[in-house]
Amino acid sequence: MILVTGGAGYIGSHTVRLLAAQGLRIVVLDNMVYGHEEAIVDDAVQLVRGDIGDHTLLRSLFEEHKFSAVVHFAAFAYVGESVTNPLKYYRNNTSAPLALLEIMQEFGCRQFVFSSTCATYGVPTTIPITEETVQSPINPYGRSKLMLEWILADCETAWGLRSTCLRYFNASGCSADGVIGEDHNPETHLIPRVLMALTGEAGPVEVFGTDYPTPDGTCIRDYIHVEDLAAAHARALDHLAEGGESLRVNLGTGIGISVKEIIAAVEKVTGKTVPVVMGPRRAGDPAQLVADPSLAWRRLQWRAKHTNIEETVKSAWQWMNGPRNGRYNS
Ligand code: UDP
Repeated sequence: MILVTGGAGYIGSHTVRLLAAQGLRIVVLDNMVYGHEEAIVDDAVQLVRGDIGDHTLLRSLFEEHKFSAVVHFAAFAYVGESVTNPLKYYRNNTSAPLALLEIMQEFGCRQFVFSSTCATYGVPTTIPITEETVQSPINPYGRSKLMLEWILADCETAWGLRSTCLRYFNASGCSADGVIGEDHNPETHLIPRVLMALTGEAGPVEVFGTDYPTPDGTCIRDYIHVEDLAAAHARALDHLAEGGESLRVNLGTGIGISVKEIIAAVEKVTGKTVPVVMGPRRAGDPAQLVADPSLAWRRLQWRAKHTNIEETVKSAWQWMNGPRNGRYNS
């Protein structure tokens, strides 16, 4: 039995769907602040509403089920909000998981898969970013995640917790059949934001900065398909179940794509012209974030399968035009 926190969110729900299809028995713990009930599509998955910091609830769950591992997604992830409300991020992303870890220690559950982030690197000293690149986050969101990485390492020393910290680059795309997808409110991410400019759900997309030291002047990111991320979690769980050692790995494609290239890909996929306005830089955006994903291949035999950005954009477009029109009801 696996406990998945935040399993009703964007990356969590794609992972839960894959793990359930592989026959794993899953309990999802989600407080539904950003999660969606309809994102849990497998009837065999048990959804429990509650907080990861709720000791009493956690104890009752661990008493009821023998969890072999925890996959921990539950977190807040708005970088800008983390700057204006840092305590919300430190409380939810760093402090609340301590209750979860305490219960895991108490019940002898010693396998932990953690959603970490490339934001822990801050402004990287080298591109592509390897796991050896200095971690020096530039905002509370990145720091809140890096601190949990450190806590996990300390728990390993103290009581043998083994963990895989998966440092995601830019999660994107949706499940191929359009049944589940990305539904953030507010939506700030580039690809859905560009698509919303096309559907009229939002105004013209603003390009945040055109004077970066990149070939076309716009920021470069590594867009990793959410189904590839889900597959990496499945591999990370297998690795820990097989007795594998703790790992910290980058999850990206290794391919850098600029903001202007994303807009061009959207125009190609949809055949429509995107309404665009050029704007100033957004505070805290590094010019380039591109992964060296080779360690994940060497240690987890995982690599991105979705390396064509147009296909990734197409899957997001299918979700926007699918049965749910890119929105859950709840
Ligand atoms: N971006 C943009 N306009 C938007 C949203 C994002 O130009 O409306 C840029 C942003 O500056 C960054 C890239 O697109 O360079 C990806 O941003 P996103 O918020 O999707 O992810 P992040 O890299 O911040 O995790």
